[in-house]
Amino acid sequence: MSTRTITLIPGDGTGPELTETTIKVIEATGVKIQWEIKEAGSDVMEKYGTPLPDDTLASIRKNKVALKGPITTPIGTGFRSVNVAIRKELDLYSCLRPCKTYQGVTSRFQDIDLVIVRENTEDLYAGVEFAPKTAETQQIIALSANKIRPDSAISIKPISWFGSERIVRFAFDYARAHNRRKVTAVTKANIMKFTDGLFLEAARSVAAQYPGIEYEERLIDNMCMQLVQKPERYDVIVLPNLYGDILSDLCAGLVGGLGVAPGANFGSDMAVFEAVHGSAPKYKGLNKVNPTALILSGQLMLEHLGEMEAALRLGAAVSAVIAEKKMVTYDMGGSAGTREMGDAIIKKLQ
Ligand code: NAD
Repeated sequence: MSTRTITLIPGDGTGPELTETTIKVIEATGVKIQWEIKEAGSDVMEKYGTPLPDDTLASIRKNKVALKGPITTPIGTGFRSVNVAIRKELDLYSCLRPCKTYQGVTSRFQDIDLVIVRENTEDLYAGVEFAPKTAETQQIIALSANKIRPDSAISIKPISWFGSERIVRFAFDYARAHNRRKVTAVTKANIMKFTDGLFLEAARSVAAQYPGIEYEERLIDNMCMQLVQKPERYDVIVLPNLYGDILSDLCAGLVGGLGVAPGANFGSDMAVFEAVHGSAPKYKGLNKVNPTALILSGQLMLEHLGEMEAALRLGAAVSAVIAEKKMVTYDMGGSAGTREMGDAIIKKLQ
């Protein structure tokens, strides 16, 4: 078996302890990986003058695959999100977030198995913002025929046909490859007729090319209600960036919380695997948070590498530890630490 080189970004906050445990678990599957460790996040700002050194991006471009711990984004001030910057810089346009109920996890629902496909590069996350009272802001206010108050800050929401078409195609291709029956496109096209309307038009044109897969549409507000009432009705859900971000946390809540929600970001030839959750800084260094979300992101990475058998064994080991409820972290009602839960999963793999 050949050794793959993969970029590892430990991140900050609880990121380093989560990645340390996750790589031990992945290595216990027997898959040979050489980790190229690269830095990013607030902790490296002073050292490099940027939270996202070029060297880190170059490593992902070279290796094509990365596993990433969470990275803190200070609210309101300081640098923009490193997580968003990585996705933008590498054009990782598709964010995949599977949500499924595990036996043993306390949740209101028992039979959820859905996948969020979130557009990752456009929408209000494009980073096109204008501060109040600048010349640019005043120009936009003038263009709006005074629909915008003069003391406003402004964020631009770009949605392109290209970006919409490729994310919806990704969702249908994913559905086809994973024997999924239905794709639901979610927008607020009744209000944002040009931006969300364009996303919806692109979704309809792609859906027509996949006659074997059911296609339906929902408005985002209705979708939130539907998901907390009857989530088992949904399968693959495709959304623009902002709605996708919010709905993936909602869906994580449906299946037991952020501790069990994995994720992956795909571009045309690169992929970065990371949990849905953030850096949970208040738990930094306490060996407390749940490693499951990052370990399951590692499982998605193994699938991406074609290591199907190892991925299946890893999934089964995680399920077994969760079902036993003995060596699980606080959020699952247990008292095991991050490392101890990882060790229990490794035991199941041996
Ligand atoms: P968070 O996801 O870090 O934590 C919110 C709460 O969820 C925590 O306080 C904790 O109670 C729980 N939680 C999160 N991860 C957990 C885990 N593995 N096990 C058990 N419980 C867990 O969200 P936040 O506090 O809003 O964000 C903290 C920082 O992380 C912010 O700076 C945010 O911008 C950043 N962030 C980064 C990413 C990323 O790296 N992709 C994603 C989301 C947020």
